[in-house]
Amino acid sequence: MKLDAKALRYLTSEDFRVLQGVEAGSRNHEVVPTPLISQLSGLRGGSGVHRSISNLAKTNLIAKVKNAKYDGYRLTYGGLDYLALNAHQKQKVVYSVGNQIGVGKESDIVVVAHSSGSQRILKIHRLGRISFRTVKTNRDYLRHRNTGSWMYMSRLAAMKEFAFMKALRENGFNVPEPIAQNRHTIVMELIDAFPLRQISKVPHPEALYSELMDIILELARFGLIHGDFNEFNILIKEIVDPTGKGKGKASADADAEDSDENVRLEPVIIDFPQMVSIDHVNAEMYFDRDVNCIKRYFQRKFHFVSDVPGPFFADAKKNFLKNPGKRLDVEVEASGFSRKMARELETYMKEVGADGDAGAARDDLDEDEDDEEESSEEEEEEEEEEEEDEQPGQSSTEVDESSERLEKLQ
Ligand code: ADP
Ligand code: MG
Repeated sequence: MKLDAKALRYLTSEDFRVLQGVEAGSRNHEVVPTPLISQLSGLRGGSGVHRSISNLAKTNLIAKVKNAKYDGYRLTYGGLDYLALNAHQKQKVVYSVGNQIGVGKESDIVVVAHSSGSQRILKIHRLGRISFRTVKTNRDYLRHRNTGSWMYMSRLAAMKEFAFMKALRENGFNVPEPIAQNRHTIVMELIDAFPLRQISKVPHPEALYSELMDIILELARFGLIHGDFNEFNILIKEIVDPTGKGKGKASADADAEDSDENVRLEPVIIDFPQMVSIDHVNAEMYFDRDVNCIKRYFQRKFHFVSDVPGPFFADAKKNFLKNPGKRLDVEVEASGFSRKMARELETYMKEVGADGDAGAARDDLDEDEDDEEESSEEEEEEEEEEEEDEQPGQSSTEVDESSERLEKLQ
């Protein structure tokens, strides 16, 4: 699934209203019946609405649902992308769309530009996608998955990520600046850096290692565990340090070898949909997993093993209780991403097997993923899944207050 920015320019205002109508109807209808689309789009029925429906279906922003007891449509990811991007453009957060630089398991990463020319990152959450690709054991659950749930869950993931990024940033953590969130997308600062995964050589691995462990402990002091702390989610910025006290230049795989002692390596942490509170029932497991990810990676990639055992969860917890930072887990809850939302998202992510980058193949440190192969597999799975999925009906669980936002947009 790629973001199709081209379609953005070709919608008439009527088409756009019909698209919004399908979105509004999708909140409680798996298949939105045509008369409801007319009603929700605020246009009088008749040929205008039908023409728009056919335009939208042709550009794959909505999809006709066959085999239904009644004639109807559902919003596609493309349609949801369109609505989100349109909102970012209206709010002057995004002016133009550039290249897609990443296709993660649960997201697409696209470079966008502001009107000033500065580049930003648009992260599009795609929580249903992983299920198409790898979760074959969970067919029963997936059969009951519907348009409403992937839209809602992807939006929850975006809300959660935005809320945590904001709280972390405000409390001095080195994370990208969060700029905006709409539906299942967030816009953030672009970090000009390679992920640790692409760094072949670090002159002083012990220094970077201990800095990363300090980050894990510092997060815990603020009541948080990252939950997916690994080489893909740590970007390594190179800062030129005129004092000459730097820890040396890293070499990216594609880069030259010379090291420069005046360059300091600065880790920037990204990817927060799996963040958990230090009070989570499985907090210790997540904490240890984060620590062990780094230990294992440093050993395999840089042949570095620390002499110091730990850090251990018990120590992190003691430190948290003795010397607490502000509790960001609590702060985020108060900011609108409620505990109930957190629970819903966590359950869904578990059920669809969204295990972040930690689930990525770890045995292929020297091999690059073959994205093309993966995406064709994914498309086949997706088609298969869509056929199974075409069941009309009502979904009672997906309540969504973005209709307010929808009104604001009109
Ligand atoms: P996912 O949830 O799919 O793992 P991430 O947020 O980890 O998504 O992003 C995937 C990749 O995209 C990262 O490994 C990184 O290479 C790149 N990326 C994400 N956010 C940024 C950013 N703000 N600046 C630069 N690169 C980024
Ligand atoms: Mg990631």
